[in-house]
Amino acid sequence: MVQLGQVIGDLLDRLGVSRAAWTEGKMPAVTPLTGEQLGMVQTVDAAAIDERLDRASAAFRSWRHVPAPRRGELVRLWGEELRAAKDDLARLVMIEAGKIPSESAGEVQEMIDICDFAVGLSRQLYGLTIATERPGHRMMEVWHPLGVVGVISAFNFPVAVWAWNAALALVCGNSVVWKPSEKTPLAALAVQAVFARAAARFGDAPEGLSQLLIGGREIGEALVDDRRVALVSATGSTRMGRSVAPRLAGRFARAILELGGNNGAIVAPSADLDLALRGVAFGAMGTAGQRCTTTRRLFLHDSIYDGFVARLKGAYGSVRVGNPLEDEVLVGPLIDRAAYDMMQEALGAAKAVGGVVHGGERVGDGDSYFVKPALVEMPGQVGPVLDETFAPILYVMRYYDLDAVIDLHNDVAAGLSSAIFTTDVREAERFLAASDCGIANVNLGTSGAEIGGAFGGEKETGGGRESGSDSWRQYMRRATNTINYSDALPLAQGVSFEL
Ligand code: NAD
Repeated sequence: MVQLGQVIGDLLDRLGVSRAAWTEGKMPAVTPLTGEQLGMVQTVDAAAIDERLDRASAAFRSWRHVPAPRRGELVRLWGEELRAAKDDLARLVMIEAGKIPSESAGEVQEMIDICDFAVGLSRQLYGLTIATERPGHRMMEVWHPLGVVGVISAFNFPVAVWAWNAALALVCGNSVVWKPSEKTPLAALAVQAVFARAAARFGDAPEGLSQLLIGGREIGEALVDDRRVALVSATGSTRMGRSVAPRLAGRFARAILELGGNNGAIVAPSADLDLALRGVAFGAMGTAGQRCTTTRRLFLHDSIYDGFVARLKGAYGSVRVGNPLEDEVLVGPLIDRAAYDMMQEALGAAKAVGGVVHGGERVGDGDSYFVKPALVEMPGQVGPVLDETFAPILYVMRYYDLDAVIDLHNDVAAGLSSAIFTTDVREAERFLAASDCGIANVNLGTSGAEIGGAFGGEKETGGGRESGSDSWRQYMRRATNTINYSDALPLAQGVSFEL
């Protein structure tokens, strides 16, 4: 039996986290693998928040003057440090968030990838030069950093989401203050220590450029309400977003909201069914259903329904559930007891409206919560199907007509990710044109985005976009500059104002 406390101690020592930070505090750090307490983490109080935001503001005032490609050099070094620490970080994510080894390593790889992306970006923060109607004038757009960027993150991506935000925010010239999930403070301490090594190698990065605020939701609220924070990028439940969005709007601060999903996949009659099976199985069961992009609703055409459900049941029956430290496990634990209770509640609600549940039982006992992923055949899109339950539940429904099922697919509050499995180009294009999600895929599942694209969703998913494409613009403000190099003063729109 592996002693996780010992393993964590060794990992955090190697990663450069001080013992006091995680042994002398008041907030328990717990592993979902066994329910064991791993440490007592130090949290921040109001005075510490105030002091750190002051330091972050000062850091911004100096960092903004560092040329962007030089800022990229810091992120390049950070990527190097992450590469060196990848195995230890992945193991830490596995123990603290309960992910299987390949998914833990994949999460750290995402941090490395976004660093690479941001380094390139540091030489591409382009603005336009725009034709002006006035002779002897030049008009252009210039992008400036915003200030202090606040990041609030969820437990299920304990390190990558911060990196998505921080790497872009830093090359754009901002400082970063991060409130990680209270369920994954150790991973936050570790990646912050890795960043500190990159900053030390960089040499003249301002002190306080990247800071951590560990604590519960009240710490997130303090970040949201503080005037010194120009933008808050908040990842978590729609309930959290409903609280955060009006508070930010109330002080006219910027928001990037990355909230819950209720992602659907359609399997059409022409689909490559082997490929669809793999795509659906990973999308629905991967990370024990605890991804924002997890497939939660499956629409099967009547002509393939019975055969596909039978094969899915086979896949569900064969998947190994258990401690990710053991070989061949594909489904790890739920994060905690509350997640298990919510799953059982949703399964009960599904039965109450005519759902037929396969799986969903608890595996093992004690203080960890492992479950068999659940497949629920539903008579329609009703009851719990309409909401995200952050657990491995896949609701399966039968459809007859593509346009009708696309309408049904869109008829939920969230709008994050969506997919169709088809080999019919007309069906594929009709779906892509009509899906109301931020992510729409053909012949791949709803989960597993890569960093080059803009990531995020519509409706109650919050509308934010992070990571690739032109997401960087959200971390900057745009100024339109007009320069008159003539000796006349022509006014726009032909206005005359002769004195
Ligand atoms: P959560 O909403 O409980 O917590 C997320 C973070 O928000 C935590 O750091 C928490 O302390 C903080 N928080 C909670 N209430 C707050 C408030 N009122 N003000 C300020 N901060 C507050 O979410 P969770 O259980 O950690 O994560 C699961 C949820 O996150 C799911 O709904 C999932 O879909 C979503 N998620 C979305 C994305 C995305 O990119 N769209 C990515 C990952 C997770």
